[in-house]
Amino acid sequence: MEPTQFDIAIVGAGLAGLSAALALEPVCAAAGVKLALVAPITKGDDKRTTALLMPSVKLMEQLGLWDLLAPHSAPLATIRMVDGTKRLIRAPLTDFKAAELSLEAFGYNVPNALMVSEFEKKIACSDTIFRFDAVLEKALCAEDGIDLSLSTGSTIVSKRVAAADGRNSILRQAAGIKTRNWSYPQSAVVVNFQHSLPHHSVSTEIHTETGPFTQVPLPARTDAPLRSSLVWVVTPEQAQDLCAKPQDQLNLIIEQKMQSCLGKISLETSPQTFPLSGMIADQFAANGVFLLGEAGHVFPPIGAQGFNLGLRDVVALRDCLKQSKFGLCRANIVAVCDTYDGMRRRDVTLSTGAVDLLNRSLLSDFLPVQAARSLGLTALGQFSWLRRQMMQRGMGPQSIL
Ligand SMILES: Cc1cc2nc3c(=O)[nH]c(=O)nc-3n(C[C@H](O)[C@H](O)[C@H](O)COP(=O)(O)OP(=O)(O)OC[C@H]3O[C@@H](n4cnc5c(N)ncnc54)[C@H](O)[C@@H]3O)c2cc1C
Repeated sequence: MEPTQFDIAIVGAGLAGLSAALALEPVCAAAGVKLALVAPITKGDDKRTTALLMPSVKLMEQLGLWDLLAPHSAPLATIRMVDGTKRLIRAPLTDFKAAELSLEAFGYNVPNALMVSEFEKKIACSDTIFRFDAVLEKALCAEDGIDLSLSTGSTIVSKRVAAADGRNSILRQAAGIKTRNWSYPQSAVVVNFQHSLPHHSVSTEIHTETGPFTQVPLPARTDAPLRSSLVWVVTPEQAQDLCAKPQDQLNLIIEQKMQSCLGKISLETSPQTFPLSGMIADQFAANGVFLLGEAGHVFPPIGAQGFNLGLRDVVALRDCLKQSKFGLCRANIVAVCDTYDGMRRRDVTLSTGAVDLLNRSLLSDFLPVQAARSLGLTALGQFSWLRRQMMQRGMGPQSIL
């Protein structure tokens, strides 16, 4: 018979929930506590790719996952920023090279479907993780734990719950955590494509009046040696229009946008669109519920920050639980919530603010804002010490392990 009482449960099996299960597993096994993962098995049908920055790659190494992901990932050695606007004041082309930080790469671009399938396989082999292949229907925070009613009809009780159930988190609501939400007049069009010229591990980000057009290298396949992914931020109307185009036309539009620097383009997936929005929770933990990933923060896919920030949530939760020795009294759980909230507030607020500012500065028609952006990029191009500072910050805190 399946157990019904747990010390910690994770709800949601997106990238944040699956990585949380794998990161918490050794800590729970060492402390002899019971860990549940509540979520239907995730299908590996996500065609997106995620740029994992170096600190996240190190975490994957620590979890014994990187050897499985590395052969199918592409390094990001240079990030090239190009001002593709037709504005009066434009920024110069700026290259950010990982070599300037004595690194081979800022990170690696990894297919989401691969991550999900490797994470799921590892979880399936675990003796510590109790998997409930079910949807959470209702959550209730009570004195002695959180009651989780599952779609299978059963109920489990857990002393603490890691909410990795995405932006509409049921658990966040059950914990009484409020959010601040906003939207952008933008959608991201996402597609993977093949090209006739090599990318040389360069990711090119072209800034346009509607948002960035970001090409990110993908690894070679035997049948397709030269490949990249694209996240193109446009207005919702343009997104609809682009998605309705015949493939040949879209190939040409992308090639022209990139001024043929990757030669001939040939799409390998159909375009998908993602409306852009933002959300930040008022608290990152309360009543024994800890917010992970998009349950706590959502922002546009600019600067490869979302999942990298989610992994920092995972590491902070792991460290808080380890330090607390999984004490069961109410005071201990309240204290761990406070510690986690404190640990995540600055990082999440800064990352959310930086991405928001970058995005809005691109959209702004206000001349002084454009001048400030151009001046900033000129200074980054000129001064290597400033560029190094910026690159370090862009990769997030180095000490996540
Ligand atoms: C186009 C695009 C490109 C991106 N590129 C990057 C990048 O390069 N680098 C980067 O760091 N980030 C990137 N991101 C952000 C990154 O994809 C997200 O941060 C990440 O996927 C969020 O994962 P999550 O697990 O928090 O949320 P989700 O992926 O939303 O997962 C939540 C999971 O919870 C499940 N769930 C929900 N409710 C319940 C319930 N009641 N019971 C059980 N399960 C439930 C859902 O089914 C889902 O599986 C990108 C995002 C987009 C849109």
